[in-house]
Amino acid sequence: MSKSIFYITKKAKSLADRIKSLYSDANIIKYKSGLLPNEWDRNKLFIFIMATGIVVRAIAPLIKDKKTDPAVLVIDDDGNYIISLLSGHLGGANAIAQQLSNFLKAQPVITTASDVNRLTAIDLWSQNNNLIIEDWSLLPHISTKLLDNKHLKVFDESNLQLPAEFKKVNSPEDADLLITNKITLHSKNINKLYLRPKNIVLGIGCNSGTTDEEIEKVIKEVLDENNLSFSSVCSIATIVKKASEEGLLAFAKKFGINIDSFTPEEINSITDIEKSEAVFKATGAKAVAEPSAILASCNNKLLIRKQKRGNVTVAAAEKRPSKHDNSSPPQKGKIYVVGTGPGDIEHITPKAQNALKESEFIIGYGTYLELIPDLLKGKKVISTGMTEEIERCKKAIELANEGKSVSIISGGDPGIYAMAGLIFELLSKMEYAGKTKTIKPNASKSYPPDIEIIPGISALNACASRLGAPLMHDFASISLSDRLTPWEVITKRLDVAASSDFVIILYNPKSKGRVEHINIAVSIIQKYRSPETPVGLVKQAMREGETVIITDLKHLIEHEIDMQTTIIIGNSQTFVWDGWMITPRGYRVV
Ligand code: SAH
Repeated sequence: MSKSIFYITKKAKSLADRIKSLYSDANIIKYKSGLLPNEWDRNKLFIFIMATGIVVRAIAPLIKDKKTDPAVLVIDDDGNYIISLLSGHLGGANAIAQQLSNFLKAQPVITTASDVNRLTAIDLWSQNNNLIIEDWSLLPHISTKLLDNKHLKVFDESNLQLPAEFKKVNSPEDADLLITNKITLHSKNINKLYLRPKNIVLGIGCNSGTTDEEIEKVIKEVLDENNLSFSSVCSIATIVKKASEEGLLAFAKKFGINIDSFTPEEINSITDIEKSEAVFKATGAKAVAEPSAILASCNNKLLIRKQKRGNVTVAAAEKRPSKHDNSSPPQKGKIYVVGTGPGDIEHITPKAQNALKESEFIIGYGTYLELIPDLLKGKKVISTGMTEEIERCKKAIELANEGKSVSIISGGDPGIYAMAGLIFELLSKMEYAGKTKTIKPNASKSYPPDIEIIPGISALNACASRLGAPLMHDFASISLSDRLTPWEVITKRLDVAASSDFVIILYNPKSKGRVEHINIAVSIIQKYRSPETPVGLVKQAMREGETVIITDLKHLIEHEIDMQTTIIIGNSQTFVWDGWMITPRGYRVV
């Protein structure tokens, strides 16, 4: 299956060439009408750089259904907009629109309601979790229910990790969505969507020359009688000798099912199996269907005991995670230390948003978490109090050591009076066998977890932008909190910064327990700076309740100051113009 990029104009051709550097296996084709029917079944991705109307007319007669249609995207000649037109979820068009828009610095146009509302797309989630949607005609109804109610009631027998908006219920009768290999779990058959886990292993024995039709008929009958869904069948298990049986191969091929086969020795290692003399004589194995199902499923509790119909014997077991899966080394953990900026989502970088999306756990101080509810959907959230920084960081490290992906978030920038340094301090005290920045995936946990620091807009950036341009020249940032720094050190730094004519940014200017600190700070700065020196006070920058005040050193302490405020004190050159605070760089402006 290939990828094709169609263009009409020269400009579109050069855009197509750029896109090819991202998808090197794509064909670039000059568009002509009548070309598409031949291409349709050969491609899994179509990118058209031309008017949407041309594309809609051309593909309309070719579209079949959302399970099989290719991804179709349309881009304008200037490369400003990337429209995900068809197969946004299963075909991957939405994801490709995102990827292309990052690459081309363009705007993705995505209209699928689940994405717009940041809710889980049931079809995509099912695909990612290897679940088969039983009845596609019910999907629009259930999806609309999710969009309207913002949650779905889910009965899950597979113990999957569910998105936050999937609320687990204990009774199948209450559920909108059922994840089970049972054909039906409720009495009233109304509008419930069944998702089938691929977890039934069929143990099959058959006589030589049995047709695939007979095998199919018997399997379907037996599953039906036992209330088990054929869609949940993941593999067939049999004895080596039968694995080349034509009928069995044809059946497996028809439904895309694997065949696992076992030697008589392997089969005879299973105890508690009823021995069939006829089978033993023919194969050297005590039996075929039941022990093969047990071996392939790693589960010795059978769902269906051996059933013999005509030429076919069927047994079934539910697949358990294999021993191999359990013994594989723990997945390497990852810690993202993410800066979420001053407040609203617009000021959180796409990189930070992606890190949160990729994390299973999100850890943070309650107030910061409250600012980003949309980014927490479907995540395991650990919220702690303000002064529990060490606990927060330890928890992040603990989870990462277990192989989990964790985002630990800080408001503003994570490396400025925040969590990044603390994470490193704690890691540096821990015992790891190896220390390396380039660790192989799946390395043992004697290596520290992968760490990525994702910067955010700090209060100094946010507040400076609201005030004008107060940080155009050298500046010193000083926190007035003496919780971790001795007050003598703080006053010394204030003195030195003031005497050296640095613009001064005061973080943590005042808390309930520290009302005097700001007064002392002002009196130190006043030793070196005129009382008319411009001062900016910004409270709750870029959040609800933001206030911006420009005053001077003399009047500073008359204003309300709290822990959500950052103060910027100008240098000897700073001036105010039309409500803006500006520190000149020194250009000769005439
Ligand atoms: N990592 C943060 C700073 C944490 S220290 C950053 O880079 O911004 C906490 C202090 O930052 C607060 O007391 C306040 O002085 C300042 N601050 C944080 N967010 C702010 C905002 N939205 N508006 C004004 N000041 C803010």
